[in-house]
Amino acid sequence: MKDRIKQSLESTVDLLSPLLEPGLEARHKAHLYRCRRTLEGPQQPETQINGRQVLAFCSNDYLGLANDPRVIETFCQAAKTYGVGSGASHLVNGHSTEHQQLEEALAAFTGRDRALLFSTGYMANLGTIQALVGKGDTVFQDRLNHASLLDGGLHSGAGFKRYRHNDNVHLNHLLEKASPESQRKLIVTDGVFSMDGDCAPLQALVDTSQRHHAWLMVDDAHGFGCLGEHGQGIGAGFTQNQVPILMGTLGKAVGTSGAFVAGSQALIETLIQFARPYIYTTAIPPAVAAATRTSLMLIQQEPERRIHLNQLIHSFRTGANQLGLTLMDSLTPIQPIMIGDDAEAMEWSQQLEQVGILVIAIRPPTVPKGSARLRITLSASHSLEQIEQLLSALAHIIKQRGLPKMTR
Ligand SMILES: *Cc1c(COP(=O)(O)O)cnc(C)c1O
Repeated sequence: MKDRIKQSLESTVDLLSPLLEPGLEARHKAHLYRCRRTLEGPQQPETQINGRQVLAFCSNDYLGLANDPRVIETFCQAAKTYGVGSGASHLVNGHSTEHQQLEEALAAFTGRDRALLFSTGYMANLGTIQALVGKGDTVFQDRLNHASLLDGGLHSGAGFKRYRHNDNVHLNHLLEKASPESQRKLIVTDGVFSMDGDCAPLQALVDTSQRHHAWLMVDDAHGFGCLGEHGQGIGAGFTQNQVPILMGTLGKAVGTSGAFVAGSQALIETLIQFARPYIYTTAIPPAVAAATRTSLMLIQQEPERRIHLNQLIHSFRTGANQLGLTLMDSLTPIQPIMIGDDAEAMEWSQQLEQVGILVIAIRPPTVPKGSARLRITLSASHSLEQIEQLLSALAHIIKQRGLPKMTR
């Protein structure tokens, strides 16, 4: 029986590979081929990848909470109480006490009426934009917005306008042009831009949105936990009326997994009724929700994590400037070094890897053509000595290869 199945499998023709392989080849040739590495331990600066010890500067675990013993302990305890899988979507019977309590904690922390958990940030963005706008409406997005926001806008069926990065004048211009015919207007921005590390000019965006009776949605994936006095993110200090749609992720500074949208009662109920990526997916494990609540508590109770992180950011920037490297306008843990050329960016990343330092080269289409970069991210779990180690490895590469052409 088995042999017969095998025989019939072998006699069939591979219809897929011949058509796919040219695309893969082309990507290789363009130096854009992406490869995964296998992490063989927890997410922390010194770890083992592909069988080698490395010092990593590429995680989004900005506060070092992904491997915190207290977060782990809550996770284990909750798994013993609730099991592992949530077993269903939120609207069937997968919404547990732990999810409910986390939503309440997130609403309180962000100063919003309510918060709604999503399984990932990608789904939160897709679902929220699609639930809020459609045909006859217009979405206005920063050119450098995260792919999930752009995808959400494109799939919503609404008119789609991209404004120049952080350019409020351009945004105003687009809003004026769109005014009469568009029913709903939604402005969407990253809070902290994921490949540049700079922040959106939130006050200006709030003013613009109010002037044009547009809604403002802020994706604070990289600011939540890191920015604001207590880690509430870039939205700290802005009310629900100013930033009515606030999105944050839990897989970055919070150190767990999932995402949330916070805002008014009507917003959250609308998402529950109409956001398809909320409705048609399994709820995150209750134990992840429980661990996230512990993590949120630590974010508030241990400001020293943010203080240390800011010291690391400062000393990295000072050192990199002294080396003559081009940094971005960033005060966040995202500290990219601009290289320009795709192959050169790969070369820098490989040379760092040879001395045991892991930094990922980011190339198009993730970033605009000609702006390949090393995306260095810092975490509160790095030490000052490790920053020195990174800087001296960079100095060594500069000695061999010279500064990247863009900076000369
Ligand atoms: C990472 C990220 C997301 C996606 O969040 P996930 O939970 O990883 O799916 C959305 N927006 C921005 C700006 C991000 O950086």
